[in-house]
Amino acid sequence: MRTKMPFLLGFLIFLLVFALISAAFCGLAQKHGASTEDVLNHPSPAPFTVVLDAGHGGEDGGAVSASGIYEKDLNLSLTMLVRDLLVANGVNVVMTRETDVLLYDRNEDYQGRKKALDLAARRKIAEETDGAVFVSIHMNSYPLPQYDGLQVWYSPNNAHSKVLAETIQGIVCEQLQPENDRQVKQATQSIYLLHHLKCPAVLVECGFLSNPTEAERLNDPEYREQLAFLIFLSIMEAQSR
Ligand SMILES: [Zn+2]
Repeated sequence: MRTKMPFLLGFLIFLLVFALISAAFCGLAQKHGASTEDVLNHPSPAPFTVVLDAGHGGEDGGAVSASGIYEKDLNLSLTMLVRDLLVANGVNVVMTRETDVLLYDRNEDYQGRKKALDLAARRKIAEETDGAVFVSIHMNSYPLPQYDGLQVWYSPNNAHSKVLAETIQGIVCEQLQPENDRQVKQATQSIYLLHHLKCPAVLVECGFLSNPTEAERLNDPEYREQLAFLIFLSIMEAQSR
Protein backbone atom coordinates (compact mmCIF):
# COMPACT_ATOMS: atom_id res chain seq x y z
CA MET A 1 0.00 0.00 0.00
CA ARG A 2 2.79 2.40 0.90
CA THR A 3 4.37 2.16 -2.52
CA LYS A 4 1.08 2.04 -4.44
CA MET A 5 -0.47 5.25 -3.02
CA PRO A 6 2.15 7.71 -4.36
CA PHE A 7 2.02 5.95 -7.74
CA LEU A 8 -1.78 6.19 -7.89
CA LEU A 9 -1.66 9.83 -6.79
CA GLY A 10 0.99 10.59 -9.40
CA PHE A 11 -1.09 8.91 -12.09
CA LEU A 12 -4.19 10.90 -11.10
CA ILE A 13 -2.22 14.14 -11.19
CA PHE A 14 -0.88 13.18 -14.62
CA LEU A 15 -4.45 12.57 -15.87
CA LEU A 16 -5.61 15.91 -14.48
CA VAL A 17 -2.73 17.86 -16.04
CA PHE A 18 -3.26 16.07 -19.38
CA ALA A 19 -6.98 16.97 -19.33
CA LEU A 20 -6.20 20.62 -18.52
CA ILE A 21 -3.62 20.92 -21.30
CA SER A 22 -6.02 19.31 -23.81
CA ALA A 23 -8.82 21.68 -22.83
CA ALA A 24 -6.55 24.71 -23.10
CA PHE A 25 -5.27 23.53 -26.48
CA CYS A 26 -8.80 23.05 -27.87
CA GLY A 27 -9.83 26.46 -26.59
CA LEU A 28 -6.84 28.12 -28.22
CA ALA A 29 -7.48 26.38 -31.53
CA GLN A 30 -11.18 27.30 -31.52
CA LYS A 31 -10.40 30.90 -30.64
CA HIS A 32 -8.34 31.17 -33.80
CA GLY A 33 -11.06 29.59 -35.94
CA ALA A 34 -9.29 26.25 -36.41
CA SER A 35 -10.41 22.79 -35.34
CA THR A 36 -8.12 20.72 -33.13
CA GLU A 37 -7.67 18.38 -36.09
CA ASP A 38 -6.42 21.25 -38.26
CA VAL A 39 -3.88 22.25 -35.66
CA LEU A 40 -2.68 18.71 -35.04
CA ASN A 41 -2.26 18.08 -38.76
CA HIS A 42 -0.13 21.25 -39.14
CA PRO A 43 -0.81 21.63 -42.86
CA SER A 44 2.16 23.44 -44.33
CA PRO A 45 1.05 26.44 -46.44
CA ALA A 46 1.22 26.08 -50.22
CA PRO A 47 4.21 27.83 -51.80
CA PHE A 48 3.42 31.49 -52.31
CA THR A 49 5.01 34.69 -53.53
CA VAL A 50 4.05 38.04 -52.13
CA VAL A 51 3.59 40.73 -54.77
CA LEU A 52 4.14 43.99 -52.92
CA ASP A 53 2.70 47.05 -54.57
CA ALA A 54 3.72 50.54 -53.46
CA GLY A 55 0.83 52.70 -54.70
CA HIS A 56 1.38 55.68 -57.03
CA GLY A 57 4.89 56.95 -57.90
CA GLY A 58 6.65 59.36 -60.24
CA GLU A 59 4.37 62.14 -61.45
CA ASP A 60 1.48 60.62 -59.45
CA GLY A 61 2.19 61.60 -55.85
CA GLY A 62 -1.08 60.22 -54.47
CA ALA A 63 -2.44 61.91 -51.35
CA VAL A 64 -0.44 64.71 -49.77
CA SER A 65 -0.46 66.00 -46.20
CA ALA A 66 -0.85 69.67 -45.30
CA SER A 67 2.84 69.64 -44.37
CA GLY A 68 3.81 68.33 -47.83
CA ILE A 69 4.34 64.59 -47.18
CA TYR A 70 3.60 62.60 -50.34
CA GLU A 71 1.77 59.31 -50.20
CA LYS A 72 3.95 57.76 -52.92
CA ASP A 73 7.08 58.14 -50.75
CA LEU A 74 5.55 56.63 -47.61
CA ASN A 75 4.07 53.78 -49.68
CA LEU A 76 7.48 52.91 -51.11
CA SER A 77 9.30 53.17 -47.79
CA LEU A 78 6.79 50.96 -45.98
CA THR A 79 6.66 48.43 -48.82
CA MET A 80 10.45 48.06 -48.79
CA LEU A 81 10.41 47.41 -45.04
CA VAL A 82 7.77 44.68 -45.48
CA ARG A 83 9.83 43.24 -48.37
CA ASP A 84 12.98 43.03 -46.22
CA LEU A 85 11.14 41.18 -43.44
CA LEU A 86 9.55 38.68 -45.85
CA VAL A 87 12.83 38.03 -47.68
CA ALA A 88 14.69 37.58 -44.37
CA ASN A 89 12.12 34.89 -43.55
CA GLY A 90 12.58 33.02 -46.82
CA VAL A 91 9.46 34.30 -48.62
CA ASN A 92 9.61 35.09 -52.34
CA VAL A 93 8.78 38.73 -53.02
CA VAL A 94 8.05 40.55 -56.26
CA MET A 95 7.88 44.35 -56.10
CA THR A 96 5.78 46.26 -58.64
CA ARG A 97 8.14 49.21 -58.18
CA GLU A 98 11.30 49.88 -56.17
CA THR A 99 11.90 53.45 -57.29
CA ASP A 100 9.90 56.67 -57.59
CA VAL A 101 8.25 55.84 -60.90
CA LEU A 102 4.91 55.24 -62.61
CA LEU A 103 4.78 52.00 -64.57
CA TYR A 104 3.81 53.02 -68.08
CA ASP A 105 5.77 52.18 -71.21
CA ARG A 106 7.54 55.35 -72.40
CA ASN A 107 7.47 53.99 -75.97
CA GLU A 108 3.70 53.77 -75.98
CA ASP A 109 1.23 56.57 -76.66
CA TYR A 110 0.74 57.37 -73.01
CA GLN A 111 -0.72 60.89 -73.22
CA GLY A 112 -3.75 61.01 -70.92
CA ARG A 113 -3.37 57.27 -70.19
CA LYS A 114 -0.46 57.16 -67.75
CA LYS A 115 -2.56 56.09 -64.76
CA ALA A 116 -4.49 53.44 -66.72
CA LEU A 117 -1.29 52.01 -68.20
CA ASP A 118 0.35 52.05 -64.76
CA LEU A 119 -2.48 50.07 -63.16
CA ALA A 120 -2.55 47.61 -66.08
CA ALA A 121 1.20 47.05 -65.64
CA ARG A 122 0.78 46.34 -61.91
CA ARG A 123 -2.06 43.94 -62.68
CA LYS A 124 0.13 42.13 -65.26
CA ILE A 125 2.95 41.68 -62.73
CA ALA A 126 0.56 40.05 -60.23
CA GLU A 127 -1.13 37.89 -62.89
CA GLU A 128 2.20 36.63 -64.21
CA THR A 129 3.41 35.61 -60.73
CA ASP A 130 2.62 32.00 -59.78
CA GLY A 131 1.01 31.60 -56.36
CA ALA A 132 0.77 35.36 -55.91
CA VAL A 133 -0.58 37.00 -52.79
CA PHE A 134 -1.04 40.66 -53.73
CA VAL A 135 -0.60 43.36 -51.09
CA SER A 136 -0.95 46.98 -52.16
CA ILE A 137 0.18 49.72 -49.77
CA HIS A 138 -1.52 53.13 -49.77
CA MET A 139 -2.21 56.12 -47.53
CA ASN A 140 -5.71 57.51 -47.19
CA SER A 141 -7.09 61.05 -47.43
CA TYR A 142 -10.42 62.73 -46.72
CA PRO A 143 -11.67 66.31 -46.96
CA LEU A 144 -12.22 66.46 -43.16
CA PRO A 145 -9.08 66.24 -41.00
CA GLN A 146 -10.41 64.31 -38.00
CA TYR A 147 -10.55 60.85 -39.55
CA ASP A 148 -7.70 58.44 -38.86
CA GLY A 149 -6.80 54.75 -38.68
CA LEU A 150 -5.77 51.89 -40.94
CA GLN A 151 -8.37 50.16 -43.09
CA VAL A 152 -7.96 47.14 -45.37
CA TRP A 153 -9.91 46.49 -48.59
CA TYR A 154 -10.13 43.04 -50.12
CA SER A 155 -10.79 41.57 -53.54
CA PRO A 156 -14.13 39.77 -53.99
CA ASN A 157 -12.58 37.18 -56.34
CA ASN A 158 -10.75 34.92 -53.89
CA ALA A 159 -11.91 33.80 -50.43
CA HIS A 160 -8.43 34.17 -48.98
CA SER A 161 -8.46 37.91 -49.69
CA LYS A 162 -10.91 38.54 -46.85
CA VAL A 163 -8.94 36.29 -44.48
CA LEU A 164 -5.77 38.27 -45.21
CA ALA A 165 -7.59 41.61 -44.86
CA GLU A 166 -9.12 40.63 -41.52
CA THR A 167 -5.78 39.36 -40.24
CA ILE A 168 -4.01 42.64 -41.07
CA GLN A 169 -6.88 44.76 -39.70
CA GLY A 170 -7.08 42.66 -36.54
CA ILE A 171 -3.38 42.49 -35.73
CA VAL A 172 -2.67 46.18 -36.44
CA CYS A 173 -5.69 47.33 -34.41
CA GLU A 174 -4.80 45.04 -31.51
CA GLN A 175 -1.10 45.89 -31.41
CA LEU A 176 -0.93 49.49 -32.61
CA GLN A 177 -4.34 51.17 -32.85
CA PRO A 178 -6.64 49.94 -30.03
CA GLU A 179 -9.06 52.85 -30.69
CA ASN A 180 -9.48 51.89 -34.34
CA ASP A 181 -12.87 50.21 -34.91
CA ARG A 182 -12.78 50.26 -38.71
CA GLN A 183 -13.89 47.09 -40.47
CA VAL A 184 -12.42 45.50 -43.60
CA LYS A 185 -14.33 46.30 -46.78
CA GLN A 186 -14.93 44.43 -50.01
CA ALA A 187 -13.62 46.38 -52.98
CA THR A 188 -15.95 47.58 -55.71
CA GLN A 189 -14.86 48.14 -59.29
CA SER A 190 -13.56 51.55 -58.25
CA ILE A 191 -10.44 49.77 -56.96
CA TYR A 192 -9.18 48.51 -60.31
CA LEU A 193 -6.57 46.04 -59.09
CA LEU A 194 -8.72 44.33 -56.45
CA HIS A 195 -11.66 44.24 -58.86
CA HIS A 196 -9.65 42.39 -61.52
CA LEU A 197 -7.11 40.21 -59.71
CA LYS A 198 -8.12 36.58 -59.15
CA CYS A 199 -5.36 35.80 -56.64
CA PRO A 200 -5.71 36.71 -52.94
CA ALA A 201 -5.45 40.51 -53.03
CA VAL A 202 -5.75 43.31 -50.49
CA LEU A 203 -5.15 47.05 -50.41
CA VAL A 204 -4.00 48.50 -47.11
CA GLU A 205 -4.91 52.15 -46.49
CA CYS A 206 -2.33 52.64 -43.73
CA GLY A 207 -3.70 55.90 -42.35
CA PHE A 208 -4.99 59.36 -43.27
CA LEU A 209 -2.53 61.96 -44.54
CA SER A 210 -5.42 64.43 -44.21
CA ASN A 211 -5.14 64.03 -40.42
CA PRO A 212 -2.08 66.10 -39.35
CA THR A 213 -1.35 63.90 -36.29
CA GLU A 214 -1.56 60.65 -38.22
CA ALA A 215 0.44 62.15 -41.12
CA GLU A 216 3.31 62.94 -38.73
CA ARG A 217 3.09 59.45 -37.21
CA LEU A 218 3.24 57.84 -40.67
CA ASN A 219 6.19 60.06 -41.52
CA ASP A 220 8.09 58.70 -38.50
CA PRO A 221 10.47 55.90 -39.65
CA GLU A 222 10.10 54.10 -36.32
CA TYR A 223 6.29 53.99 -36.65
CA ARG A 224 6.63 52.70 -40.20
CA GLU A 225 8.91 49.93 -38.95
CA GLN A 226 6.27 48.87 -36.42
CA LEU A 227 3.55 48.96 -39.07
CA ALA A 228 5.70 47.03 -41.55
CA PHE A 229 6.42 44.36 -38.95
CA LEU A 230 2.72 43.90 -38.19
CA ILE A 231 1.80 43.70 -41.88
CA PHE A 232 4.58 41.13 -42.40
CA LEU A 233 3.36 39.16 -39.39
CA SER A 234 -0.22 39.25 -40.69
CA ILE A 235 0.79 37.96 -44.13
CA MET A 236 2.59 35.01 -42.50
CA GLU A 237 -0.28 34.35 -40.08
CA ALA A 238 -2.97 34.52 -42.78
CA GLN A 239 -1.01 32.12 -44.97
CA SER A 240 -1.17 29.42 -42.28
CA ARG A 241 -4.97 29.75 -41.89
ZN1 LIG B 1 -3.30 55.78 -52.81
